[in-house]
Amino acid sequence: MKRIGAHVSIAGGVSNAIGRQREVGGNAGQIFSSSPRTWKAEAPSREEASRFKSLRTEADQRPYVVHGTYLINLGTKNDDVYERSLDALQTELDITGQLGIEYYVFHPGAATGGWGADEGISRVAEGLDRLEIPEGTTLLLEDTAGKGSTLGRTFSELNEMVERSGHGLGRIGICFDTCHAFCAGYPIHTERGLADTLDELDDAVGLKHLHIVHLNDSKHPFDSRKDEHAHIGMGEIGEDAFRRIVNEPRLGNVPFILETPVTEERGYAWNIAKVRSLMEGE
Ligand SMILES: [Zn+2]
Ligand SMILES: [Zn+2]
Repeated sequence: MKRIGAHVSIAGGVSNAIGRQREVGGNAGQIFSSSPRTWKAEAPSREEASRFKSLRTEADQRPYVVHGTYLINLGTKNDDVYERSLDALQTELDITGQLGIEYYVFHPGAATGGWGADEGISRVAEGLDRLEIPEGTTLLLEDTAGKGSTLGRTFSELNEMVERSGHGLGRIGICFDTCHAFCAGYPIHTERGLADTLDELDDAVGLKHLHIVHLNDSKHPFDSRKDEHAHIGMGEIGEDAFRRIVNEPRLGNVPFILETPVTEERGYAWNIAKVRSLMEGE
């Protein structure tokens, strides 16, 4: 069965994520390691971490992803923000390792403080070199919608970050967000556009380094450089496009993680069921 999960809350303790995931019908999952809008992540206690692990094994939810906090910016010229970002990243990576979680994903950041993209990309690469990636965890860079000076709008930019670092692809991979790609100008809403986009991803980083797809529809139009997610099939990408995306053979082995809105009428359960209903043979 295809691995599909949602980004769920860890309120009350990280082990609560497992039950929440089961409730929405997910068999994979994503969490924050702590509040996404604070700098200091707090590691779970040893008991809580082992509860998370055993409940996860029991529920057969895999893989899991930790999503980095939104404050992280490795592309900035500002030394203070940069050092805080590296500290936060390392702390969160350590928690990811402690929980035995397969992936840690983050948005690389923005070239702020008067820098151009090239300097920002080099700064990200230097930052990657200072990180210790725990054994068993793969660090994933996520494509972005490319608003303003945000880095990582294109696959070649993401590849540059890894290339200029000493890690190389392998310990570092890619997370592909459908909403971000669409708003960044990748025409995944057409049949031809989806094929071309995956060709470009394959050329730039290699499909074998694509580990997670963030499956989100978009509230904003194609190439708008905006980032706001919509329910699957109900946004600008649309249902026909999602039918092609979820049945695309080249994405067949890549787990889908949903970061769709939670509204009164529709939550993750609806969206996961929607994805499965679009899939042939599920
Ligand atoms: Zn995403
Ligand atoms: Zn987004």
